Amino acid sequence: MHSELLDLPCPAPGTRRSLKVVRFGRPGARPKAYLQAALHGDELPGVMALAHLEELLAAADAAGRIRGEIVLVPVANPIGLSQSVMGSHAGRYDLASMSNFNRGWPDFLERVAHEAGPRLGLDAAANVALVRAALGEAARSMPAIGENAALRRLLYGLAHDADIVLDLHCDLEAVTHLYLGDPLWPDARDLAADIGSEATLLAEVSGGNPFDEAFSGLWWSLQRRFPDRNLPLACLAATVEYRGLADVSERQGRQDAAGLLRFLTRRGLVAGEVPPPAACPEARPLEGVAMVRAPAAGLVSFEAAPGQEVEEGALLAVLVHPLAGEPSRRRTEVRAPVGGTLFARAACRLARPGDILAKVAGTRPLPGRTGALLSD
Ligand SMILES: [Zn+2]
Repeated sequence: MHSELLDLPCPAPGTRRSLKVVRFGRPGARPKAYLQAALHGDELPGVMALAHLEELLAAADAAGRIRGEIVLVPVANPIGLSQSVMGSHAGRYDLASMSNFNRGWPDFLERVAHEAGPRLGLDAAANVALVRAALGEAARSMPAIGENAALRRLLYGLAHDADIVLDLHCDLEAVTHLYLGDPLWPDARDLAADIGSEATLLAEVSGGNPFDEAFSGLWWSLQRRFPDRNLPLACLAATVEYRGLADVSERQGRQDAAGLLRFLTRRGLVAGEVPPPAACPEARPLEGVAMVRAPAAGLVSFEAAPGQEVEEGALLAVLVHPLAGEPSRRRTEVRAPVGGTLFARAACRLARPGDILAKVAGTRPLPGRTGALLSD
């Protein structure tokens, strides 16, 4: 076990932040797993999980059980972690640039295809090494002027050559769920089972270039670009959503860490025996997730909770407008546009028109669900 602090550039005189990286196993050992938490700086359940996972891995390390290489970044975004606006933690967007910390990650497909493409052959291991070398070059070319840019380059560089990349987030009020690329299913069923995912949502391109797709999506794009070469899907990258913002406790962190350790053991990074994966719900298309929006302003009274299966037309919430003149006009009912699993809902009890109140995962793609499929 080895930990280091990587300095970010000083954003203003007298201030400085750093990134803590904890490493287990021999550098270069395979498989390599990279786990980070709270890229959205206010999403803390994953931070608690990695704090506990670090302890479990330290014990495994002391017992000589680390087989691959494991890199943990328990607080992936010290910038977002430290942002507070008038008493509210605001970690989703970089306040300096008003940009979402988990969007706009680079897509190096063209660059990697140009540099590694002509040398790809029929040896899968050699191809993977060529692609990772080109990706490493690309990562080193990322701009690093400014704190957020430097942070991005560091995180990208740490993750780019991993076999497994897990980006730990949370929703507002939610059950544990998982975002994955279609081509990774059902291979990643064990991940869904080991983290206790109650809704696994698949998309090849979810829109906006989130962190995980920068690593997993490259491989299926390269497969398509070079169909006659032997290119595996060499990175299982996923966004893990550990429930809601307030679901932070030592008990939950210990459970989450135990699930992650089980997965890492199953995948050969840690020596040991694990039971077969538990049963978990079948994955559903991200294009089948209904983002249920508030049709009017009002106080939110939820009638359905995260984890609940709802029928099409079921009452999800009532919006109460306390100042409407007639009592009959005070209530606006919000119903499920599709049957499925209600896996996340809003945390604020004041809805503005257009706010997302709930997310319901149906089984089939919904008409008109194209383009950016994630919430902003
Ligand atoms: Zn997030």
